[in-house]
Amino acid sequence: MKPRNKFEKAVLEQSKHLRPITKQQSKWAFRECIDHFTYRLPKGRTTCIDCGHSWVMNKQRETCTCPHCRAKLQVKETYERKLQQKQYFTLLTTCGEFQVLRMFLLIVGMEKGYKAQTSIIEIGQYWWNMQGRKAVVAIQRVLGHYVDTFSYYSPMAIRNDNEAYQHIAYSPIYPKFKVTDILRRNGFKDNFYGIVPTQLIPVLLTDSRVETLLKAGSTDHLRYFLGNKRTFEELWQ
Ligand SMILES: [Zn+2]
Ligand SMILES: [Zn+2]
Repeated sequence: MKPRNKFEKAVLEQSKHLRPITKQQSKWAFRECIDHFTYRLPKGRTTCIDCGHSWVMNKQRETCTCPHCRAKLQVKETYERKLQQKQYFTLLTTCGEFQVLRMFLLIVGMEKGYKAQTSIIEIGQYWWNMQGRKAVVAIQRVLGHYVDTFSYYSPMAIRNDNEAYQHIAYSPIYPKFKVTDILRRNGFKDNFYGIVPTQLIPVLLTDSRVETLLKAGSTDHLRYFLGNKRTFEELWQ
């Protein structure tokens, strides 16, 4: 979709300045967003499928630490040799004047005896300006059997928001945030209190009542009211 106005044009232009994901961020995603296993054969031969190292573990246990890569592993007794894991994750950052939530898909291929292969695909971003106006820049979603089916080779472009992007916004978020001054001034303290970023960020930029609740530390109320918009309106007369 072509930008329909000045705002979307500015967002699309700014989106070309996003940096590639850092080593530290992709390391975090690998470590925290997927499961880590060692595959144990009934006789005790055990293989860490993160790094490929194998050793003998005489007694079956639930968890262990890989003696080679030090990963904490769940022990699975199995003859399986391969595993593919997929998980979305997000990063909160800024770009120009905008607050940005970047969305990624992590795909990890694991096979006994080899080091795990990681690839990370950026699905797109939510953008908010200082007034809380939103735009989505992303690859194309295709309607399929699953909510989250995308056309991975389509270009990053302005897209209509939809449940596929919304779904990904709920994924684990990298714990180091980059936040605009305006969001800080409105009371954001590096914590979403269990509220999805795509809900908290725009209301914090547009609704001073949210700022008041947050600054008063009434985060339970905030969470409750955001889930019940009408109650929120009624009680705040
Ligand atoms: Zn530029
Ligand atoms: Zn290992």
